[in-house]
Amino acid sequence: MKIADVLKQGISVSFEVFPPKKDAPFAPVKEAVVRLASERPSFISVTYGAGGGASANTANIASFIQNDCATTALAHLTCVTATREEVQAQTAKLKAAGIENILALRGDIPAGLPFPPPGHYHHAVELVRTLAATGDFCLGGACYPECHPECMHIEQDIAFLKEKVDAGLSFLTTQMFFDNNIYYRYVYKLREAGITVPVLAGIMPVTNGKQIARICALSGTRLPERFRAIADHFGDTPAKMREAGVAYATEQIIDLFSNGVRAVHIYTMNQPDVAGRIMSNLSAILER
Ligand code: FAD
Repeated sequence: MKIADVLKQGISVSFEVFPPKKDAPFAPVKEAVVRLASERPSFISVTYGAGGGASANTANIASFIQNDCATTALAHLTCVTATREEVQAQTAKLKAAGIENILALRGDIPAGLPFPPPGHYHHAVELVRTLAATGDFCLGGACYPECHPECMHIEQDIAFLKEKVDAGLSFLTTQMFFDNNIYYRYVYKLREAGITVPVLAGIMPVTNGKQIARICALSGTRLPERFRAIADHFGDTPAKMREAGVAYATEQIIDLFSNGVRAVHIYTMNQPDVAGRIMSNLSAILER
């Protein structure tokens, strides 16, 4: 099913997984996917690791989600290190597997490649134009409530985002955030800028207190004091951090739903037990 139609059906909770790295076994990822699919998410997205031979694994896992787990799949696709022929080959593979949804991304610019070679894609908007012209896929894109780290001003970032949406996106998924007020203010600005598509709230249940400070520094995500205290206090004890991370993410999601947000995307980090506990906390709210 196209995600544009999934989102029309009511409140949506979806999951993100990452595929196996190059030469890593498929079995543990497939096992995690089967358990995640049993939570009946609205759809499952699969990240794309550009280069290094892992890119084929996205299509394989997306196909497994869609065809073996009877769950709508969203395949991520990055373009900055790809030629147009490579993008065409990848989308042909997705189409053959029955995948109807693509998250069209630029990807991070690799160190040593300050600017893509001639003929390559520079920004996600170019990939959106290429994919929209085929008419084969429902397209989503990424957005950044705290501004993309390469962009100096949020207004400029939103102006580029508007171009990207107008090129053919049906929905956006946000970078993770830990302070819902940042999301609310951001969506208000998007609506003011004339961006009307659904904006899926990206929620990361943090189960590793040590990693999160580094991830947030790289992505420009602010860690609220309340969250920092949790990570400082419980970060050294995995079981406690996991408990606190599940509780924090659950609370964030309940606050989002109670403020009228209708779509949440959980970055599961391939941890079905964590996603499962959040879903169980939400079961009455989701009327399951
Ligand atoms: P763009 O939309 O192209 O924006 C990138 C930067 O360029 C921004 O600063 C923007 O303001 C600027 N810009 C945009 N258009 C123009 C223009 N026309 N002229 C000048 N500047 C412009 N990475 C992966 O490698 N694999 C994944 O699977 C993956 N999944 C992700 C999922 C989500 C939900 C998110 C939020 C990010 C994901 N990423 C992934 C990371 C993403 O690839 C990086 O954040 C990347 O740096 C930007 O990608 P983008 O598609 O947002 O780029």
